Amino acid sequence: MESKIYKLVIIGSGPAGLTAAVYAARANLNPIIIDGDEPGGQLVKTSYVENWPGEKSILGPQLMMNMRDHAKRFGTEFLSGKVTRVDFSQKPFVITVNNETELKAHAVIIATGATPKRLNIPGEDAYWGKGVTTCAVCDGAFYPDKSVIVVGGGDTAMEDASFLKKFTKKVTIIHILDKLTASHAMQERVLNDPDITVIYSSTVTELIGDGQHITSAVVTNQITGEKTTLQADGVFVAVGLSPNTAPFKDHIECNQGGFINVKNNTHTSVEGVFAAGDVHDYRYRQAITSAGAGCMAALDAERYLSEVL
Ligand SMILES: Cc1cc2nc3c(=O)[nH]c(=O)nc-3n(C[C@H](O)[C@H](O)[C@H](O)COP(=O)(O)OP(=O)(O)OC[C@H]3O[C@@H](n4cnc5c(N)ncnc54)[C@H](O)[C@@H]3O)c2cc1C
Repeated sequence: MESKIYKLVIIGSGPAGLTAAVYAARANLNPIIIDGDEPGGQLVKTSYVENWPGEKSILGPQLMMNMRDHAKRFGTEFLSGKVTRVDFSQKPFVITVNNETELKAHAVIIATGATPKRLNIPGEDAYWGKGVTTCAVCDGAFYPDKSVIVVGGGDTAMEDASFLKKFTKKVTIIHILDKLTASHAMQERVLNDPDITVIYSSTVTELIGDGQHITSAVVTNQITGEKTTLQADGVFVAVGLSPNTAPFKDHIECNQGGFINVKNNTHTSVEGVFAAGDVHDYRYRQAITSAGAGCMAALDAERYLSEVL
């Protein structure tokens, strides 16, 4: 059967993809979104979002449902499934979903986000979004005068610790190695701060809670095997992010970490393929910045399509 040709295929249904869809649908580009394994993206796994302008406090899943309804309202089509293969060497581009359904597109927006790396320890799944999180900027303000743990030893962990200490009573960094891996300047900032403690050569091996929220973390020394239970109201996991670029990385330029390289805002190395959100932005990693990038990608795609069609 001949594959349907779309003007615009958007891959991913987080804030970047859904915002791109709102703009593209209103511009009569009749976009289709391919949902991926996590319709709504990372925010469906969190509780309250308090930094989305216009919503003082809203549950992440509700915010994403609102965005989805908004995109639908202007005629966005949705397809369940995951992009498993792309061919950007021919035009229209070919996109394969679940290794079986083929779509063709004159333009593509990749908005597949990134997956925060996890610790994969007991209690993590149960308390994910209930005190265990990866976003200090998003969730730090929920912990006034509380004790929090930051797991990691790189720049992100240092930044998170410095940010969190503005709100919290106590910040403890747990790092697996015997020295930090962050840049010298970031290390200095943390090591000179009397309110931040670093525990080296140790990992968090279990998260314990009261059923509603995390209450403590078991920390195991990697050398002696000794286990200590630390009281913790929040655990911020800062051990890296994996961009969801597996199907694309051999077809467009990515950086060493696998994030898509963009130039001129949302353009990728392939003309007609655009990127938006956490899939290229490893610096800001916010819903609002991803949505902003989704808007820009849709406007760039619209301009491109008006030139080539
Ligand atoms: C626990 C937690 C709490 C957070 N809290 C906040 C907050 O309060 N405020 C805030 O601003 N930010 C918060 N963030 C960050 C925010 O969620 C992200 O910055 C934002 O979701 C990124 O949006 P995105 O659209 O780029 O990608 P994502 O939200 O990651 O969405 C990616 C989409 O791509 C899809 N996808 C992936 N691979 C494929 C594929 N092969 N084929 C098709 N689709 C695919 C996924 O299914 C998903 O729909 C939080 C993040 C986490 C993890």
